[in-house]
Amino acid sequence: VAKGAGKNQWRRYQADLHGAMVERLELRSALDHAAREGHFLLAYQPIVDLGTDEPVGYEALVRWHHPTRGVVQPAEFIEVAEESGLVVPMGRWVLEQALHTVAQWRRILPRSRQPYVSVNVSVRQFREAGFADEIKQALAKAAVPPHALMLELNETALAGENESIRPVLQDLRDHGVRIAVDYFGSELDGLPLDVVKIDKSAIDDIAQSQDQLTRVQGMVALSRQYGLTVIAEGIESTTHRDLLAWLGCPLGQGYLFSSPVDGTEALSQMTDRLPLVA
Ligand code: C2E
Ligand code: MG
Ligand code: MG
Repeated sequence: VAKGAGKNQWRRYQADLHGAMVERLELRSALDHAAREGHFLLAYQPIVDLGTDEPVGYEALVRWHHPTRGVVQPAEFIEVAEESGLVVPMGRWVLEQALHTVAQWRRILPRSRQPYVSVNVSVRQFREAGFADEIKQALAKAAVPPHALMLELNETALAGENESIRPVLQDLRDHGVRIAVDYFGSELDGLPLDVVKIDKSAIDDIAQSQDQLTRVQGMVALSRQYGLTVIAEGIESTTHRDLLAWLGCPLGQGYLFSSPVDGTEALSQMTDRLPLVA
């Protein structure tokens, strides 16, 4: 009996594995289709000055408008898009769309309130030949100054790639584009960066755990030593905001200020000039 059960378990495991593979393949072709049909859209989340609660920039976050499932979040498709390489053309669209939007905002808003836009970039995009030139051309085409664009890389993706992408980072940075990295560790020593983003997972417990608060304090201090600006992600309460401001963290993002919104609502946030806290 035991032997039979084992065999059944094995069969079920095989069937699950097969099902998962089929699902991934289906997701891949649905994503290809979405890219061809223009079914992606961008949401924008404010990056806020923790001294004034006013937005200084907006992070562009991709969504997939699925014909039957509605709006699908990146957690459900970015990984497959990376694997299949689709993240490259998708990223190109994200960049162009984000630049187009920030150009519009900057035309409408007075100089003192003109935001920058921050775009998440996959390491796969950085590895494409001509990536830096593509960025420069997109900036020129949208008539957006380089300092109004920030590129976000994620550290886990960066690990072990430092040397191959350093010249690309340096080139873009020399051009005036800002470079941010999600999270911060020893891997990043000496990379040409401007901004460190501290992940939500590090921020979550700072009000409950003295150890965690000390750890974040260390990250902020270290970043400043390197001459980097800090953005804390996942600020959900005024306690988070106040603690971070007290630690000397200049900028933050999170649901306390605003969840990601569409471009029109982001523009209202900037024109209303109201502090982004309830
Ligand atoms: P990320 O770059 O770390 O973006 C922050 C994520 O945290 C976003 O999720 C945002 O909606 C969410 N978030 C912001 N504030 C809060 C908060 O206070 N509480 C909580 N619980 N969550 C908060 P989202 O939009 O689902 O994006 C997930 C990840 O997908 C991003 O993480 C980024 O790595 C990736 N991604 C998004 N857009 C793009 C893109 O255009 N290209 C690439 N390559 N990756 C992207
Ligand atoms: Mg990001
Ligand atoms: Mg993050």
